[in-house]
Amino acid sequence: MQTVSDYFGSLVFDDRVMKANLSAKVYQSLRKTIDEGAQLDISVANAVATAMKDWALANGATHYTHWFQPLTGITAEKHDGFLAPSPDGGVIMEFSGKELIQGEPDASSFPSGGLRATFEARGYTAWDPTSYAFIKGKTLCIPTAFCSYGGEALDKKTPLLRSMEALNKQALRILRLFGNDTVKCVRTSVGPEQEYFLIDKEMYEKRRDLRFTGRTLFGAKPPKGQEMDDHYFGVIKPRVAAYMEELNEELWKLGILAKTEHNEVAPAQHELAPIYTTTNIATDHNQLTMEIMQKVATKHGLVCLLHEKPFAGVNGSGKHNNWSLATDTGVNLLSPGETPYENAQFLLFLCAVIKAVDDYQDLLRISVATAGNDHRLGANEAPPAVVSMFLGDELNAVLEAIETGTPYSGAEKTQMKLGVDVLPKFNRDTTDRNRTSPFAFTGNKFEFRMLGSSNSIACANIMLNSAVAESLKIYADRLEKAEDFQTALHEMIRKTIKDHKNIIFNGNGYDDAWIKEATGQRGLLNYRTTPDCVPHLLDKKNVEMLTSHRVFKEAELKSRYEITLENYCKTVIIEANTMIDMAKTEIAPAVEAYAKEVAKTAAAKKAVDAALPCTYESGLIRRLSSLTDRIAGKADELEQALLSLSSVEKIGEQANAIRDTVLVKMSELRLACDEAETITAKNYWPFPTYGDLLFGVR
Ligand code: ADP
Ligand code: MG
Repeated sequence: MQTVSDYFGSLVFDDRVMKANLSAKVYQSLRKTIDEGAQLDISVANAVATAMKDWALANGATHYTHWFQPLTGITAEKHDGFLAPSPDGGVIMEFSGKELIQGEPDASSFPSGGLRATFEARGYTAWDPTSYAFIKGKTLCIPTAFCSYGGEALDKKTPLLRSMEALNKQALRILRLFGNDTVKCVRTSVGPEQEYFLIDKEMYEKRRDLRFTGRTLFGAKPPKGQEMDDHYFGVIKPRVAAYMEELNEELWKLGILAKTEHNEVAPAQHELAPIYTTTNIATDHNQLTMEIMQKVATKHGLVCLLHEKPFAGVNGSGKHNNWSLATDTGVNLLSPGETPYENAQFLLFLCAVIKAVDDYQDLLRISVATAGNDHRLGANEAPPAVVSMFLGDELNAVLEAIETGTPYSGAEKTQMKLGVDVLPKFNRDTTDRNRTSPFAFTGNKFEFRMLGSSNSIACANIMLNSAVAESLKIYADRLEKAEDFQTALHEMIRKTIKDHKNIIFNGNGYDDAWIKEATGQRGLLNYRTTPDCVPHLLDKKNVEMLTSHRVFKEAELKSRYEITLENYCKTVIIEANTMIDMAKTEIAPAVEAYAKEVAKTAAAKKAVDAALPCTYESGLIRRLSSLTDRIAGKADELEQALLSLSSVEKIGEQANAIRDTVLVKMSELRLACDEAETITAKNYWPFPTYGDLLFGVR
């Protein structure tokens, strides 16, 4: 029998394959490109391309594609065959270094947010050698960045790589100040925990809302929801277990370290977590994971829902972005060290993150902003839209002691105001597991919990890396000039704690009292919706920070502002149109048909005995009739709200109008329809109910 280690990574052109199939010289220069970003010689590229092609053909591939991540949020690929005609009428299989390094997909149909008007229409893809090529189906997929000809990023990978580079540069400056000359590179690692729902495919097909929008737009609360807490970590049902088994196999073949699987809080909800890896690869892997989750589900007669809020009234799905910083020598910079000296370095990196999260709360909120995620943030199931940080009791006590210059009463009672050599040794705090914090320290990493389940993790990590790079830059600028390093360091740590302690909150983030405190005396930001936060992407401080680290050009930020709001508007408009359609052509007719049936029953009863009061029937008919009137009226009002959008030109204003009118009318229409569902006979209801969907998979 094949074991996992036999087939793990079997579809990946990874280091093992490179070593076995490239000459030592070619291998070494490719490694140099991967590890240090060295320029790749065309002769090396040709050799790599040939080896890649031979390996891909041997593994059943017929095509290759530059695989990229445009601003649609999903991945894109255009397949080209390896084949080329040979003079004797046959074919040969070809793939050149040039084809490996660069592609020219037609960029005109991908969102560019106005970049195309300003710059060239053509786009190109460029090989990202830091992420291994792999085979999907019969296609060799080459991870690439996607840019316009002027070099403007049209994708999520380019700014992610730039942000990693920015952070690397600043982190190295800090390490040098601590006397570390051996580290060559600092990278961020990410382990994204992915939540999802599994429902029966036949039922899914019967609901246009699920098919068109990925979420239910109607649905009365089922008699049983998640109140019994019997699903979380519960026994996995056989059909789901079979799905998870095949999913793991497919992911392992692609070298994705799928590790943990369990049932989540809501019925039909599950989670998958991989082992963490370099951010760039983690991002590619997460995109692939989402794609394969959906593909494997179909084979099992299931549908995998990745929407942030597929069902009202039960928990939605998020993604936890576990993030840490490590050196190429294997040191996690967010891990408290063994000695006070190491701890000073740890505290400085910790402070850099605290300062970054506080200074750029808005960018973190923006990085997770979608129409879908707006339903989750602040709905007492996910972190609120207010960004705050959780550090745990021990770290808190340490920071407090430093700020006030009082002895830290931890393991060793040490006075801490003098310098690095007296900073305390303290243990990793693993006892405390605050699950309501948007940004929690969990011993040796931070867990950013605001991401929606369908978000690309690129966006959150771009902002996080950039913001932390900015803190480190400010620190390095100061410390490099300091006359007395230790005093300056201590002072800087103290000042960060003093200036930024407002962002630290260790209580219950789901509590309404917290929102009051956060937005009141603490002055933290609370951008509840996508239209509320996205305009701040273009705030001066944000543009300055992101452009100064060369993560974005100003034009790229403007384009991302446009695209994010365009996506928001399009998403809600599709939902609204689907609702109108379902209400008018499915729900209202079903309620009418049922009313007719009830009327027929009453008439039949009266035919037997004209004196029968038929109170039940007449009362029901009156209620059903008033509901169909309400449904029709609300559907009309929603249509009007949509029509009035056409007079709004600017995307920001359109998004606001959608937030203030369209979404309001949608919930009014839903309310009427959901009420009708509760009094209409089940066999008349035109599509599966919440009960069917949530408890339908056994
Ligand atoms: P939970 O948060 O559910 O208690 P864990 O903390 O064990 O679970 O891990 C959750 C995720 O965090 C996993 O994907 C894991 O690989 C990742 N992770 C663990 N350590 C690190 C680290 N140092 N950097 C980044 N991610 C990490
Ligand atoms: Mg976790």
